[in-house]
Amino acid sequence: MYDLVIKNGKIIDGTGSPSFWADIAIENGKIAKIDKRIEGGKEVIDATGLTVTPGFVDSHGHADNAFLEYPDLIEKIEQGITTTVGGQCGDTKAPIGKDVLKEAPVPVGNFGTNHEVYRTMGTLLDIAKELPQGTNSLTFVGHSGLRSAAMGMEDREPTKEELETMKSLLREAMEHGAIGVSFGLFYAPGCFSKTDEVKELAKVAADCGGMISAHIRDEGYFAYKAVEEMINVAKYSGARCVLSHHKAEYKENWGKVNHTLRMIDEANAEGYDIYCDVYPYNASHTRLSAMVIPGEFRTEGDAGIVRHLHNEDVRQEIKNYLKKKYGEDYSWIQVTICQAYPEYEGKTIPEIAKIHGTDCYDAMFDIIRDSKNICSACYFTMCEEDIETVLAHPRAMVCTDSSVAAANKVYHPRLRATFPRVLGKYVRERKVTTLVEMIRKITAMPAAVYGLKNKGLLREGFDADICIFDENTIIDRASFADCTKRAEGLNYVILGGQVVVENAVYNGKKMGRILLRNE
Ligand SMILES: [Zn+2]
Repeated sequence: MYDLVIKNGKIIDGTGSPSFWADIAIENGKIAKIDKRIEGGKEVIDATGLTVTPGFVDSHGHADNAFLEYPDLIEKIEQGITTTVGGQCGDTKAPIGKDVLKEAPVPVGNFGTNHEVYRTMGTLLDIAKELPQGTNSLTFVGHSGLRSAAMGMEDREPTKEELETMKSLLREAMEHGAIGVSFGLFYAPGCFSKTDEVKELAKVAADCGGMISAHIRDEGYFAYKAVEEMINVAKYSGARCVLSHHKAEYKENWGKVNHTLRMIDEANAEGYDIYCDVYPYNASHTRLSAMVIPGEFRTEGDAGIVRHLHNEDVRQEIKNYLKKKYGEDYSWIQVTICQAYPEYEGKTIPEIAKIHGTDCYDAMFDIIRDSKNICSACYFTMCEEDIETVLAHPRAMVCTDSSVAAANKVYHPRLRATFPRVLGKYVRERKVTTLVEMIRKITAMPAAVYGLKNKGLLREGFDADICIFDENTIIDRASFADCTKRAEGLNYVILGGQVVVENAVYNGKKMGRILLRNE
């Protein structure tokens, strides 16, 4: 008797082959049999009229932030994500920065202090791998973490010793199961590194059998140069490379993705493994300071930013910088988290400035300063056409690009709705590509790219991580005004052979775990 039989479903198996009608039997967490008609089963799901696919793989999900603090990963599993890849954009919880080590240790749940738990990626993974998770997770180690552990937030090249420290911390992370190194060359302190440093570390990852990913240095005016830099790093190191959240920011740059995707194609034709991922929204989301405070004022972390924003001369200097960079219009910034002024959450900068009684610049500086830099926003800088172009590209995977710890009603809806949105809005309504091809791009392809064994396909012997949905109705409901709304048309999510989500509601069973490289 099988544990579970899914009957009468339309199977899209992840390979890119056409759909077919069959039953699927599950036993001991694995797909035991796929056949025209399977009888018996302690539990039976009637999938008549529904589509059955492998569970979705979130190519870029920042879930390393949640390993210990928020292991349910509800927002992931409730949109059909059965594996999420974390640790991107250079930014990982571990290793802990040199500056942070100077401060008094703070407890991390029951796991010890931050100094112990997050000391290295190895110490974090050793604890996290023992904890059941709401979905499967794996992680890169972040270059910014390595760099801040070796040399703090300083804006200079590393000494030879400091580079060696970074390399040995990277090797330690790889030995403990990290999948590679991620770069965040837009953020501090990643932005302080020169290409040579990036190449050296990518080479170490490759030598350990790992891969690389990058939030490139610039996603707008200098996007071509930034993509070229990472392609060169991939060529030098030989590492497989994923370019994160591919896009072209600001109106003047819209359309540039056509060229950058061609650059990816050309590198692949030369024998290098380059991919990208994309989220299906025209707005990005990050800390407000990352967009408005220049690198030179971010060298001392949050405390330094707050201190600089008390200084009138610095504020004037940043004002001039912003006027040159973005002009006078800030209606494209919508604040999502603002610790000091929660009443501003969900409002645009001009709306906030009006209530705040200042111009847009002082409003932004005040809310960053008074929130001690715990202040994030959405940035409406992309165009629909580019999103569709990237989504349709055969080497583009799909990502939420979202960590899960935020419970705010006002947040980026990609947190909750990315995959139902891709299937409903972009495949069914906009027809950017076929359903069969999109399923391949969100299952088998990322499983292959990230080296996931026995995942990403509906195939006998593979892990029973499965989504069952109505391809005619599946759609996202979360929005920029309310990101808590669940998707519709997603009937079941099965993880490790167990139903964990019914009608987009998670039942609390933690069937996921931390996946280690080469496990
Ligand atoms: Zn990023």
